[in-house]
Amino acid sequence: MRGVSKALSGYEVVITSDRTMISNHHGKEFLGFMATGPAIGMPERLWMWLAAPKMRVDKEGRPWEAPYGLRKIEAKLIDAGFKAAIIDPDYLHKHLNTMKVLMIGHHDFFAYGPPSSEWWMMVGREPVNRISFRKFMESSAVKEARRKGIKIIMGGPAAWQWLWEPGLWKKWGVSTVIDGEAERVIVEVVEKALNGDHLPEYIYIGPYDTPSLKEIPVIKGASVNGLVEIMRGCPRGCKFCSVTLRPLRYIPLEHIKKEIRVNLEAREKNVILHSEDVLLYGADGVKPKPEPLIKLHEEVRKLVPGTIAWAHVSLAAVKYAEDNYGLISKLMDIITSNGSQKYIGVEVGIETGSPRLAKIIMPAKSAPYPPEQWPDVVEDAFRIMHDNYIIPAATLILGIPEERSEDIAKTIELVKRLRPYRSLIVPMFFVPMGALKSKNWFKETGLKTEHCELLLKCLEHCVYWVEDLVNKYYLKEPYLFPVRLGIELFVKYVKRHVDDVRAYFESMLRQ
Ligand code: SF4
Repeated sequence: MRGVSKALSGYEVVITSDRTMISNHHGKEFLGFMATGPAIGMPERLWMWLAAPKMRVDKEGRPWEAPYGLRKIEAKLIDAGFKAAIIDPDYLHKHLNTMKVLMIGHHDFFAYGPPSSEWWMMVGREPVNRISFRKFMESSAVKEARRKGIKIIMGGPAAWQWLWEPGLWKKWGVSTVIDGEAERVIVEVVEKALNGDHLPEYIYIGPYDTPSLKEIPVIKGASVNGLVEIMRGCPRGCKFCSVTLRPLRYIPLEHIKKEIRVNLEAREKNVILHSEDVLLYGADGVKPKPEPLIKLHEEVRKLVPGTIAWAHVSLAAVKYAEDNYGLISKLMDIITSNGSQKYIGVEVGIETGSPRLAKIIMPAKSAPYPPEQWPDVVEDAFRIMHDNYIIPAATLILGIPEERSEDIAKTIELVKRLRPYRSLIVPMFFVPMGALKSKNWFKETGLKTEHCELLLKCLEHCVYWVEDLVNKYYLKEPYLFPVRLGIELFVKYVKRHVDDVRAYFESMLRQ
């Protein structure tokens, strides 16, 4: 099978996760977000199929695509000489005789991260990612691995969640949890596991232990939907974010191109450029620079026949790039120059519409503009994206420590100003992370009148735009017709129940 390293068989290190992670979401990254919620308006099996269908695998159970983070770990271990492979969760049993270490990575093991935790609180039912992970950990293959004394190592962006689950840590026989970028430590940890040496229970990788560019390997098999990393870290320093604690590293263009070729070899014809802020690739501090971005996009466009997507951009960078260099329009010209790509989707963070709160929790988010101008920066960036067919899925954070009613009122005002711009706006409850990790979680019991109004405004905004997005832009490929039907079913269900949701929020407003 193309796209994965040559089969060695007899894997001593097996890397995997549950179905919500080992899936390419029908080639549409955004559908993966459905796995962060409970099934709504349809049976759970159908919801799971829409969010996380099974992957094509080879005879050993190696998926043709796998999450990028798992691919990095696999590459590091193969380079160090281990017999390691990513295996689909349905095929673990085939490797129980040779497996000595089982490594499991996840974005959201227990659905404690946003937006899973918020879905869970609002709907009152467990999100499917949590259910899927629990079923996986209690599957016969993982039970057998535990019984045989195979070392189980957890990692990935959600590693911190194990600190909230000491009971399951013990019950599921987890030997070690690695929290942070693991490339520098992973070889030693696996060596110790294989030798039966003592392993620390929790390994936290701080900013000084993060891998250098030289220590970051090229992936050996295709990544989900062609995701490749162009940069690590973020210079903006938002207090609620863990990424910002890591140093900034630009991945060299040659490295990026090598990874794209690995994906192309596996017949993945699209690419997602991953960074916390794609527009800061090769930037001068927080000011985007035209040359490196144009070069990156031109080189990628030459290689990739399908779509180019961006993982995240910052709104201040969108405004600065377009106002100073017309750069957003130039990049979109390059992206759409293949003749078939018409738009691009991206995640952006608004977080608050209050300059007062922005100044406290994310003073550099608006840079190079002052935080006092934050709402204008957001609206300008939304207008630029609308004009250039960039469709943002934007996040807001509710319940940030130090938030006051007047801050929420400002956010409501901003959401109303954003109505004319094609977008989705997703409110999320504050989860203690980054410099605010010692603060309290925001729960639905802390909802104020203004929060309810804000939730309602976001719902109205999304309902206003979602049909347009599905009808004109999303899931147009003929082979995705059944998926499209499922999504239309969901949108109809939500529209039918908007009035119920409105009544629910209004009743909360009256309390
Ligand atoms: S801009 Fe985004 S990635 Fe950067 S620190 Fe703020 S929240 Fe984190």
